[in-house]
Amino acid sequence: MSRLVVVSNRTSDPRKTAAGGLAVALRESLEQTGGVWFGWSGKLREMVDGGTVDQNDLHVHTTGNVTLATFDLSPEDHDTYYLGYSNGVLWPVCHYRLDLANFDTRFAKGYRRVNQLFARKLLTLLKPDDIIWVHDYHLIPLAAELRSAGCNNRIGFFLHIPMPPPLIMAAIPEHEWLMRSLFAYDLVGFQAESDVTHFTHYVESEARAVCLGPNHLRAFDRTLQVGAYPIGIDVDEFVRLAQAKEGRDMFARMREEYSRRRLLLGVDRLDYSKGLPHRIHAFRQLLERYPENRDSATLIQIASPSREDVGAYDDLRREMDSLCGAINGDFGELDWMPVRYIHRNVARKRLPGLYRASRVALVTPLRDGMNLVAKEFIAAQDPADPGMLVLSRFAGAAEQLKEALLVNPYDTQGTADAIQRALVMPLAERIDRHSALLNRVREQDVHWWSRTFLKALAEVEPVLAQMS
Ligand code: UDP
Repeated sequence: MSRLVVVSNRTSDPRKTAAGGLAVALRESLEQTGGVWFGWSGKLREMVDGGTVDQNDLHVHTTGNVTLATFDLSPEDHDTYYLGYSNGVLWPVCHYRLDLANFDTRFAKGYRRVNQLFARKLLTLLKPDDIIWVHDYHLIPLAAELRSAGCNNRIGFFLHIPMPPPLIMAAIPEHEWLMRSLFAYDLVGFQAESDVTHFTHYVESEARAVCLGPNHLRAFDRTLQVGAYPIGIDVDEFVRLAQAKEGRDMFARMREEYSRRRLLLGVDRLDYSKGLPHRIHAFRQLLERYPENRDSATLIQIASPSREDVGAYDDLRREMDSLCGAINGDFGELDWMPVRYIHRNVARKRLPGLYRASRVALVTPLRDGMNLVAKEFIAAQDPADPGMLVLSRFAGAAEQLKEALLVNPYDTQGTADAIQRALVMPLAERIDRHSALLNRVREQDVHWWSRTFLKALAEVEPVLAQMS
Protein backbone atom coordinates (compact mmCIF):
# COMPACT_ATOMS: atom_id res chain seq x y z
CA MET A 1 0.00 0.00 0.00
CA SER A 2 1.33 3.45 -0.91
CA ARG A 3 2.35 5.83 1.86
CA LEU A 4 0.41 9.04 2.28
CA VAL A 5 2.26 12.36 2.37
CA VAL A 6 0.20 15.28 3.63
CA VAL A 7 1.52 18.77 2.89
CA SER A 8 0.03 21.88 4.48
CA ASN A 9 1.29 25.26 5.57
CA ARG A 10 0.95 24.30 9.25
CA THR A 11 1.09 20.75 10.58
CA SER A 12 -0.30 19.19 13.72
CA ASP A 13 2.05 17.60 16.20
CA PRO A 14 0.64 14.31 17.54
CA ARG A 15 2.56 14.82 20.80
CA LYS A 16 0.36 17.81 21.56
CA THR A 17 -3.31 17.46 22.45
CA ALA A 18 -6.32 19.66 21.61
CA ALA A 19 -6.19 19.10 17.86
CA GLY A 20 -9.36 19.83 15.85
CA GLY A 21 -11.31 17.36 13.72
CA LEU A 22 -9.28 18.04 10.58
CA ALA A 23 -5.96 17.25 12.26
CA VAL A 24 -7.44 14.11 13.79
CA ALA A 25 -8.80 12.88 10.44
CA LEU A 26 -5.56 13.55 8.58
CA ARG A 27 -3.54 11.85 11.27
CA GLU A 28 -5.89 8.88 11.11
CA SER A 29 -5.43 8.65 7.31
CA LEU A 30 -1.66 8.85 7.79
CA GLU A 31 -1.71 6.07 10.37
CA GLN A 32 -3.62 3.76 8.03
CA THR A 33 -0.83 3.63 5.47
CA GLY A 34 2.06 5.15 7.36
CA GLY A 35 3.26 8.46 6.08
CA VAL A 36 4.66 11.93 6.44
CA TRP A 37 3.08 15.26 7.40
CA PHE A 38 5.17 18.04 5.97
CA GLY A 39 4.95 21.81 6.41
CA TRP A 40 6.20 25.01 7.98
CA SER A 41 7.23 24.72 11.65
CA GLY A 42 5.52 28.00 12.55
CA LYS A 43 8.96 29.35 13.54
CA LEU A 44 10.97 32.12 11.94
CA ARG A 45 14.73 32.07 11.63
CA GLU A 46 16.75 35.15 10.79
CA MET A 47 19.32 34.44 8.06
CA VAL A 48 22.79 35.89 8.48
CA ASP A 49 23.02 36.87 4.82
CA GLY A 50 19.38 38.08 4.69
CA GLY A 51 18.54 35.29 2.24
CA THR A 52 15.87 32.62 2.43
CA VAL A 53 16.07 29.61 4.71
CA ASP A 54 17.14 26.85 2.38
CA GLN A 55 20.12 25.22 3.96
CA ASN A 56 18.34 24.55 7.26
CA ASP A 57 17.77 21.01 8.32
CA LEU A 58 14.27 19.67 8.59
CA HIS A 59 12.86 19.09 12.06
CA VAL A 60 11.83 15.45 11.94
CA HIS A 61 9.89 13.52 14.62
CA THR A 62 8.49 10.05 14.15
CA THR A 63 5.64 8.70 16.26
CA GLY A 64 4.59 5.15 15.31
CA ASN A 65 4.42 4.99 11.52
CA VAL A 66 3.91 8.75 11.04
CA THR A 67 6.72 11.24 10.56
CA LEU A 68 6.28 14.93 11.14
CA ALA A 69 8.74 16.97 9.06
CA THR A 70 8.83 20.74 9.33
CA PHE A 71 11.15 23.60 8.50
CA ASP A 72 11.54 27.23 9.51
CA LEU A 73 10.93 30.26 7.30
CA SER A 74 12.92 33.46 7.17
CA PRO A 75 11.11 36.65 8.25
CA GLU A 76 11.23 37.85 4.61
CA ASP A 77 9.57 34.65 3.37
CA HIS A 78 6.97 34.90 6.11
CA ASP A 79 6.18 38.52 5.19
CA THR A 80 5.77 37.86 1.50
CA TYR A 81 4.53 34.26 1.16
CA TYR A 82 2.36 34.07 4.28
CA LEU A 83 1.25 37.56 5.31
CA GLY A 84 1.59 39.16 1.89
CA TYR A 85 0.34 36.74 -0.74
CA SER A 86 -1.56 34.04 1.17
CA ASN A 87 -3.35 36.31 3.62
CA GLY A 88 -3.13 39.67 1.84
CA VAL A 89 -4.07 38.54 -1.70
CA LEU A 90 -5.56 35.03 -1.88
CA TRP A 91 -7.62 35.15 1.33
CA PRO A 92 -9.41 38.46 0.59
CA VAL A 93 -9.90 37.75 -3.14
CA CYS A 94 -11.29 34.25 -2.55
CA HIS A 95 -13.68 35.82 -0.01
CA TYR A 96 -14.74 38.45 -2.60
CA ARG A 97 -12.94 41.34 -0.85
CA LEU A 98 -10.94 42.87 -3.69
CA ASP A 99 -10.97 46.14 -1.75
CA LEU A 100 -8.75 44.56 0.93
CA ALA A 101 -6.22 42.88 -1.39
CA ASN A 102 -2.70 44.26 -1.80
CA PHE A 103 -1.24 43.14 -5.12
CA ASP A 104 2.39 43.99 -4.35
CA THR A 105 4.60 42.08 -6.83
CA ARG A 106 7.07 41.31 -4.03
CA PHE A 107 4.41 39.10 -2.43
CA ALA A 108 3.89 37.01 -5.59
CA LYS A 109 7.64 36.46 -5.87
CA GLY A 110 7.88 35.37 -2.24
CA TYR A 111 4.91 33.03 -2.68
CA ARG A 112 6.54 31.34 -5.64
CA ARG A 113 9.92 31.18 -3.90
CA VAL A 114 8.50 29.51 -0.79
CA ASN A 115 6.51 27.02 -2.89
CA GLN A 116 9.80 26.14 -4.62
CA LEU A 117 11.37 25.75 -1.20
CA PHE A 118 8.56 23.41 -0.10
CA ALA A 119 9.09 21.38 -3.30
CA ARG A 120 12.87 21.11 -2.88
CA LYS A 121 12.62 20.01 0.73
CA LEU A 122 9.74 17.62 0.13
CA LEU A 123 11.56 15.88 -2.75
CA THR A 124 14.22 14.68 -0.32
CA LEU A 125 11.56 12.76 1.64
CA LEU A 126 9.53 11.21 -1.18
CA LYS A 127 9.37 7.58 -2.27
CA PRO A 128 8.28 6.80 -5.84
CA ASP A 129 4.83 5.43 -5.00
CA ASP A 130 3.88 7.91 -2.27
CA ILE A 131 0.49 9.56 -2.68
CA ILE A 132 0.73 13.28 -1.95
CA TRP A 133 -2.18 15.35 -0.61
CA VAL A 134 -1.56 19.11 -0.65
CA HIS A 135 -3.80 21.43 1.38
CA ASP A 136 -5.02 24.93 0.79
CA TYR A 137 -4.33 28.25 -0.79
CA HIS A 138 -0.81 28.66 0.54
CA LEU A 139 0.40 25.88 -1.74
CA ILE A 140 -1.49 26.13 -5.06
CA PRO A 141 1.67 25.95 -7.26
CA LEU A 142 3.35 23.16 -5.27
CA ALA A 143 2.52 20.30 -7.69
CA ALA A 144 3.76 22.33 -10.67
CA GLU A 145 7.05 22.94 -8.85
CA LEU A 146 7.33 19.24 -7.93
CA ARG A 147 6.56 18.16 -11.50
CA SER A 148 9.19 20.45 -12.96
CA ALA A 149 11.71 18.78 -10.64
CA GLY A 150 10.71 15.38 -12.05
CA CYS A 151 8.17 14.21 -9.45
CA ASN A 152 5.86 11.58 -10.95
CA ASN A 153 3.77 10.82 -7.88
CA ARG A 154 0.01 10.98 -7.69
CA ILE A 155 -0.81 14.42 -6.24
CA GLY A 156 -4.15 15.73 -4.99
CA PHE A 157 -5.06 19.21 -3.83
CA PHE A 158 -7.85 20.42 -1.57
CA LEU A 159 -8.89 24.07 -1.38
CA HIS A 160 -10.37 24.83 2.03
CA ILE A 161 -11.51 28.35 1.12
CA PRO A 162 -14.00 29.41 -1.59
CA MET A 163 -13.17 29.57 -5.30
CA PRO A 164 -14.48 32.97 -6.44
CA PRO A 165 -16.31 33.60 -9.75
CA PRO A 166 -14.01 34.06 -12.79
CA LEU A 167 -14.05 37.86 -12.94
CA ILE A 168 -13.08 38.15 -9.29
CA MET A 169 -10.27 35.60 -9.67
CA ALA A 170 -9.12 37.53 -12.75
CA ALA A 171 -8.32 40.55 -10.55
CA ILE A 172 -5.23 38.72 -9.27
CA PRO A 173 -2.43 39.70 -11.64
CA GLU A 174 -1.05 36.13 -11.54
CA HIS A 175 -4.46 34.45 -11.94
CA GLU A 176 -3.56 32.57 -15.09
CA TRP A 177 -0.38 31.14 -13.56
CA LEU A 178 -2.25 30.10 -10.41
CA MET A 179 -5.10 28.37 -12.24
CA ARG A 180 -2.76 26.71 -14.75
CA SER A 181 -0.76 25.40 -11.78
CA LEU A 182 -3.80 23.49 -10.57
CA PHE A 183 -3.63 21.36 -13.73
CA ALA A 184 -0.39 19.79 -12.43
CA TYR A 185 -2.49 17.94 -9.83
CA ASP A 186 -4.30 14.69 -10.54
CA LEU A 187 -7.36 15.67 -8.52
CA VAL A 188 -8.50 19.05 -7.23
CA GLY A 189 -11.14 19.05 -4.50
CA PHE A 190 -13.33 21.95 -3.43
CA GLN A 191 -15.68 22.43 -0.50
CA ALA A 192 -18.89 23.02 -2.44
CA GLU A 193 -20.50 22.51 -5.84
CA SER A 194 -20.56 26.29 -6.27
CA ASP A 195 -16.74 26.28 -6.07
CA VAL A 196 -16.53 23.57 -8.75
CA THR A 197 -18.87 25.65 -10.92
CA HIS A 198 -16.77 28.79 -10.48
CA PHE A 199 -13.57 26.96 -11.32
CA THR A 200 -15.17 25.31 -14.36
CA HIS A 201 -16.48 28.67 -15.58
CA TYR A 202 -13.05 30.21 -15.05
CA VAL A 203 -11.19 27.65 -17.16
CA GLU A 204 -13.93 27.66 -19.81
CA SER A 205 -13.87 31.43 -20.17
CA GLU A 206 -10.19 32.18 -19.57
CA ALA A 207 -8.47 29.04 -20.91
CA ARG A 208 -11.04 27.69 -23.39
CA ALA A 209 -11.30 24.49 -21.37
CA VAL A 210 -13.44 21.67 -22.67
CA CYS A 211 -15.62 19.68 -20.32
CA LEU A 212 -14.94 16.02 -21.13
CA GLY A 213 -17.55 14.66 -18.75
CA PRO A 214 -18.78 15.24 -15.23
CA ASN A 215 -15.98 17.05 -13.42
CA HIS A 216 -13.39 16.28 -16.14
CA LEU A 217 -11.79 19.37 -17.61
CA ARG A 218 -9.28 19.64 -20.41
CA ALA A 219 -7.13 22.79 -20.65
CA PHE A 220 -3.44 23.71 -20.86
CA ASP A 221 -2.89 20.32 -22.63
CA ARG A 222 -3.87 18.48 -19.48
CA THR A 223 -6.96 16.69 -18.21
CA LEU A 224 -7.94 17.39 -14.64
CA GLN A 225 -10.52 15.80 -12.41
CA VAL A 226 -12.28 18.12 -9.97
CA GLY A 227 -14.99 17.55 -7.40
CA ALA A 228 -16.81 18.82 -4.31
CA TYR A 229 -15.80 17.10 -1.07
CA PRO A 230 -17.44 19.09 1.73
CA ILE A 231 -15.36 18.83 4.87
CA GLY A 232 -17.11 17.64 8.02
CA ILE A 233 -16.46 17.39 11.75
CA ASP A 234 -15.64 14.45 13.99
CA VAL A 235 -19.18 14.00 15.35
CA ASP A 236 -18.26 11.30 17.86
CA GLU A 237 -15.42 13.38 19.24
CA PHE A 238 -17.86 16.26 19.66
CA VAL A 239 -20.42 14.16 21.45
CA ARG A 240 -17.65 12.87 23.73
CA LEU A 241 -16.58 16.45 24.49
CA ALA A 242 -20.19 17.42 25.23
CA GLN A 243 -20.50 14.54 27.70
CA ALA A 244 -17.12 15.09 29.38
CA LYS A 245 -16.95 16.96 32.70
CA GLU A 246 -16.02 20.36 31.23
CA GLY A 247 -18.80 20.12 28.63
CA ARG A 248 -21.41 19.23 31.24
CA ASP A 249 -20.22 21.91 33.69
CA MET A 250 -20.30 24.58 31.02
CA PHE A 251 -23.81 23.56 29.98
CA ALA A 252 -25.09 23.59 33.58
CA ARG A 253 -23.52 27.00 34.32
CA MET A 254 -24.92 28.57 31.18
CA ARG A 255 -28.41 27.13 31.68
CA GLU A 256 -28.49 28.45 35.22
CA GLU A 257 -27.11 31.87 34.42
CA TYR A 258 -29.46 32.36 31.45
CA SER A 259 -32.52 30.57 32.85
CA ARG A 260 -34.66 33.70 32.38
CA ARG A 261 -33.10 34.63 29.03
CA ARG A 262 -33.01 33.44 25.45
CA LEU A 263 -29.43 32.73 24.60
CA LEU A 264 -28.07 33.36 21.10
CA LEU A 265 -24.52 32.42 20.19
CA GLY A 266 -21.88 33.33 17.63
CA VAL A 267 -18.45 31.65 17.57
CA ASP A 268 -15.98 32.91 15.00
CA ARG A 269 -12.45 34.01 14.39
CA LEU A 270 -12.39 37.80 14.25
CA ASP A 271 -12.22 37.87 10.47
CA TYR A 272 -13.87 40.22 7.97
CA SER A 273 -15.31 37.24 6.07
CA LYS A 274 -17.45 36.27 9.06
CA GLY A 275 -19.92 39.16 8.75
CA LEU A 276 -19.68 40.12 12.42
CA PRO A 277 -20.72 43.80 12.13
CA HIS A 278 -23.66 42.76 9.89
CA ARG A 279 -24.68 40.26 12.58
CA ILE A 280 -24.66 42.90 15.32
CA HIS A 281 -26.79 45.18 13.10
CA ALA A 282 -29.25 42.32 12.58
CA PHE A 283 -29.39 41.69 16.33
CA ARG A 284 -30.11 45.39 16.92
CA GLN A 285 -32.96 45.15 14.38
CA LEU A 286 -34.30 42.14 16.25
CA LEU A 287 -34.54 44.22 19.44
CA GLU A 288 -36.14 47.10 17.57
CA ARG A 289 -38.67 45.12 15.52
CA TYR A 290 -39.54 42.50 18.14
CA PRO A 291 -39.48 44.33 21.49
CA GLU A 292 -40.52 41.19 23.38
CA ASN A 293 -36.84 40.22 23.09
CA ARG A 294 -35.73 43.18 25.20
CA ASP A 295 -34.64 42.24 28.67
CA SER A 296 -34.49 38.69 27.37
CA ALA A 297 -32.46 37.84 24.24
CA THR A 298 -28.73 37.79 24.96
CA LEU A 299 -26.13 37.33 22.27
CA ILE A 300 -22.82 35.82 23.33
CA GLN A 301 -20.40 36.62 20.53
CA ILE A 302 -17.01 34.96 20.74
CA ALA A 303 -14.55 36.47 18.30
CA SER A 304 -11.23 34.71 18.74
CA PRO A 305 -8.16 36.78 17.85
CA SER A 306 -6.76 36.06 14.43
CA ARG A 307 -3.97 37.45 12.21
CA GLU A 308 -3.53 40.51 14.38
CA ASP A 309 -0.52 41.56 12.34
CA VAL A 310 -2.76 42.35 9.33
CA GLY A 311 -4.17 45.93 9.24
CA ALA A 312 -7.74 45.11 8.13
CA TYR A 313 -8.22 43.13 11.36
CA ASP A 314 -7.50 46.18 13.54
CA ASP A 315 -10.28 48.14 11.83
CA LEU A 316 -12.69 45.26 12.36
CA ARG A 317 -11.79 45.02 16.01
CA ARG A 318 -12.49 48.70 16.55
CA GLU A 319 -15.79 48.49 14.64
CA MET A 320 -16.96 45.54 16.74
CA ASP A 321 -16.00 47.26 20.02
CA SER A 322 -18.01 50.29 19.00
CA LEU A 323 -21.10 48.43 17.68
CA CYS A 324 -21.35 46.19 20.74
CA GLY A 325 -20.80 49.14 23.08
CA ALA A 326 -23.55 51.12 21.33
CA ILE A 327 -26.14 48.35 21.48
CA ASN A 328 -25.46 47.74 25.17
CA GLY A 329 -25.62 51.49 25.85
CA ASP A 330 -28.89 51.93 23.94
CA PHE A 331 -30.79 48.84 25.11
CA GLY A 332 -29.02 47.52 28.24
CA GLU A 333 -30.64 47.47 31.68
CA LEU A 334 -29.04 47.23 35.10
CA ASP A 335 -29.56 43.48 35.06
CA TRP A 336 -29.43 42.76 31.30
CA MET A 337 -26.80 43.40 28.66
CA PRO A 338 -27.92 42.45 25.13
CA VAL A 339 -24.45 41.55 23.84
CA ARG A 340 -21.59 39.79 25.56
CA TYR A 341 -18.71 40.27 23.23
CA ILE A 342 -15.62 38.22 24.01
CA HIS A 343 -12.47 38.88 22.04
CA ARG A 344 -10.63 35.79 23.26
CA ASN A 345 -10.24 32.20 22.22
CA VAL A 346 -12.52 29.74 24.01
CA ALA A 347 -11.04 26.26 24.52
CA ARG A 348 -12.51 23.61 22.23
CA LYS A 349 -13.60 21.43 25.11
CA ARG A 350 -15.82 24.21 26.48
CA LEU A 351 -17.67 24.89 23.26
CA PRO A 352 -20.06 21.89 23.14
CA GLY A 353 -21.67 22.88 26.47
CA LEU A 354 -22.05 26.44 25.26
CA TYR A 355 -23.60 25.30 21.96
CA ARG A 356 -26.04 23.05 23.77
CA ALA A 357 -27.19 25.79 26.15
CA SER A 358 -28.00 28.17 23.25
CA ARG A 359 -31.44 28.53 21.67
CA VAL A 360 -30.08 29.90 18.42
CA ALA A 361 -26.68 29.92 16.70
CA LEU A 362 -25.88 32.78 14.36
CA VAL A 363 -23.51 31.58 11.64
CA THR A 364 -23.76 34.41 9.16
CA PRO A 365 -20.50 34.83 7.23
CA LEU A 366 -20.44 37.03 4.14
CA ARG A 367 -18.45 34.23 2.50
CA ASP A 368 -16.99 31.05 3.97
CA GLY A 369 -15.44 27.93 2.44
CA MET A 370 -17.43 25.63 4.73
CA ASN A 371 -17.90 26.78 8.37
CA LEU A 372 -17.44 24.03 10.91
CA VAL A 373 -19.08 25.92 13.77
CA ALA A 374 -22.45 25.35 12.03
CA LYS A 375 -21.86 21.58 12.08
CA GLU A 376 -20.52 21.56 15.63
CA PHE A 377 -23.62 23.40 16.86
CA ILE A 378 -25.88 20.75 15.29
CA ALA A 379 -23.83 17.87 16.73
CA ALA A 380 -23.94 19.34 20.26
CA GLN A 381 -27.74 19.79 20.49
CA ASP A 382 -30.11 17.76 22.63
CA PRO A 383 -32.20 15.97 19.95
CA ALA A 384 -35.27 16.17 22.19
CA ASP A 385 -35.06 19.98 22.52
CA PRO A 386 -32.62 21.25 19.90
CA GLY A 387 -31.53 24.82 19.30
CA MET A 388 -31.96 26.30 15.82
CA LEU A 389 -29.26 27.28 13.34
CA VAL A 390 -29.48 30.57 11.41
CA LEU A 391 -27.03 30.09 8.56
CA SER A 392 -25.74 32.37 5.82
CA ARG A 393 -26.46 31.15 2.31
CA PHE A 394 -22.89 32.24 1.51
CA ALA A 395 -21.28 29.61 3.78
CA GLY A 396 -20.22 26.45 1.95
CA ALA A 397 -22.15 24.52 4.62
CA ALA A 398 -25.43 25.95 3.29
CA GLU A 399 -25.35 23.48 0.36
CA GLN A 400 -25.63 20.59 2.83
CA LEU A 401 -27.59 22.20 5.68
CA LYS A 402 -30.78 23.19 3.88
CA GLU A 403 -32.99 22.61 6.94
CA ALA A 404 -31.28 25.47 8.79
CA LEU A 405 -32.88 28.92 8.44
CA LEU A 406 -30.85 30.24 5.52
CA VAL A 407 -30.31 34.00 5.39
CA ASN A 408 -28.65 36.67 3.30
CA PRO A 409 -26.42 38.42 5.87
CA TYR A 410 -26.40 41.64 3.82
CA ASP A 411 -30.18 41.83 4.37
CA THR A 412 -30.30 43.07 7.95
CA GLN A 413 -34.08 43.02 8.26
CA GLY A 414 -34.41 39.57 6.66
CA THR A 415 -31.78 38.23 9.05
CA ALA A 416 -33.54 39.77 12.08
CA ASP A 417 -36.83 38.16 10.93
CA ALA A 418 -35.11 34.76 10.60
CA ILE A 419 -33.61 35.07 14.10
CA GLN A 420 -37.08 35.83 15.48
CA ARG A 421 -38.50 32.82 13.61
CA ALA A 422 -35.78 30.63 15.12
CA LEU A 423 -36.54 31.96 18.62
CA VAL A 424 -40.25 31.16 18.42
CA MET A 425 -40.09 27.97 16.34
CA PRO A 426 -42.33 25.21 17.74
CA LEU A 427 -40.59 22.20 19.27
CA ALA A 428 -41.89 19.72 16.67
CA GLU A 429 -40.45 21.74 13.79
CA ARG A 430 -37.13 22.16 15.59
CA ILE A 431 -36.90 18.43 16.17
CA ASP A 432 -37.69 17.63 12.51
CA ARG A 433 -35.17 20.09 11.15
CA HIS A 434 -32.48 19.08 13.62
CA SER A 435 -32.88 15.39 12.91
CA ALA A 436 -32.41 15.94 9.15
CA LEU A 437 -29.41 18.20 9.80
CA LEU A 438 -27.76 15.80 12.24
CA ASN A 439 -28.14 12.91 9.79
CA ARG A 440 -26.29 14.86 7.13
CA VAL A 441 -23.55 16.04 9.53
CA ARG A 442 -23.11 12.41 10.63
CA GLU A 443 -23.14 10.91 7.13
CA GLN A 444 -20.62 13.36 5.76
CA ASP A 445 -18.28 13.69 8.72
CA VAL A 446 -14.57 14.40 8.55
CA HIS A 447 -13.68 10.70 8.21
CA TRP A 448 -16.03 10.41 5.21
CA TRP A 449 -14.34 13.50 3.74
CA SER A 450 -10.77 12.19 3.90
CA ARG A 451 -11.79 8.67 2.84
CA THR A 452 -13.78 9.91 -0.16
CA PHE A 453 -11.11 12.30 -1.35
CA LEU A 454 -8.30 9.74 -1.00
CA LYS A 455 -10.36 7.05 -2.76
CA ALA A 456 -11.03 9.39 -5.69
CA LEU A 457 -7.33 10.31 -5.80
CA ALA A 458 -6.30 6.66 -5.84
CA GLU A 459 -8.67 5.93 -8.73
CA VAL A 460 -8.05 8.92 -10.98
CA GLU A 461 -5.98 8.46 -14.13
CA PRO A 462 -2.68 10.14 -13.25
CA VAL A 463 -1.56 13.28 -15.07
CA LEU A 464 1.64 11.63 -16.22
CA ALA A 465 -0.15 8.69 -17.85
CA GLN A 466 -2.08 11.24 -19.95
CA MET A 467 1.14 12.71 -21.25
CA SER A 468 2.77 9.45 -22.40
N1 UDP B 1 -12.89 27.63 17.68
C1 UDP B 1 -12.40 27.40 18.95
N2 UDP B 1 -12.39 28.42 19.85
C2 UDP B 1 -12.84 29.68 19.55
C3 UDP B 1 -13.34 29.93 18.25
C4 UDP B 1 -13.35 28.88 17.35
O1 UDP B 1 -12.00 26.27 19.27
O2 UDP B 1 -12.80 30.56 20.42
C5 UDP B 1 -12.91 26.53 16.69
C6 UDP B 1 -14.32 26.09 16.31
O3 UDP B 1 -14.82 25.17 17.25
C7 UDP B 1 -14.11 25.50 14.93
C8 UDP B 1 -12.93 26.30 14.38
O4 UDP B 1 -12.32 26.96 15.48
O5 UDP B 1 -13.74 24.14 15.01
C9 UDP B 1 -13.38 27.34 13.35
O6 UDP B 1 -13.64 26.68 12.15
P1 UDP B 1 -14.61 27.33 11.03
O7 UDP B 1 -14.65 26.38 9.88
O8 UDP B 1 -15.95 27.66 11.62
O9 UDP B 1 -13.93 28.70 10.61
P2 UDP B 1 -12.41 29.10 10.22
O10 UDP B 1 -11.83 29.70 11.47
O11 UDP B 1 -11.70 27.84 9.78
O12 UDP B 1 -12.55 30.13 9.14
